[in-house]
Amino acid sequence: MSRDPKPARCAWCGAKLPAATLGRPRTYCRQACRQRAYEQRTLADRAGLPADAVVVSRLELDHLQDRLFQIRCALEDAAAALDDNASKAELAAVLRNAVDAGGALDRLWVTPREPSTS
Ligand SMILES: [Zn+2]
Repeated sequence: MSRDPKPARCAWCGAKLPAATLGRPRTYCRQACRQRAYEQRTLADRAGLPADAVVVSRLELDHLQDRLFQIRCALEDAAAALDDNASKAELAAVLRNAVDAGGALDRLWVTPREPSTS
């Protein structure tokens, strides 16, 4: 199985950026991300924090930890299925669940998932 090369990501939210065209590569996916990054740098500067410091809210951190917990559970389920010599269909189901749990793990914040169309 081959993977696509690692896509460029928004420096604020981590969303995939569109493929680069002519000119300077994009850093942010949208103006709102550019603005939040600017505000973050300004706040960090005022607070005497390093320029690359990231300040997240308790809610954002809790949300990220919830998602990490979900993927950990999904991977433990997959390992248990392997240990139990589960059927191919059962393994496929637990692996799909693991992939779903990790799908947007590289984004700091995601809105609740809409029903899958695939
Ligand atoms: Zn963004």
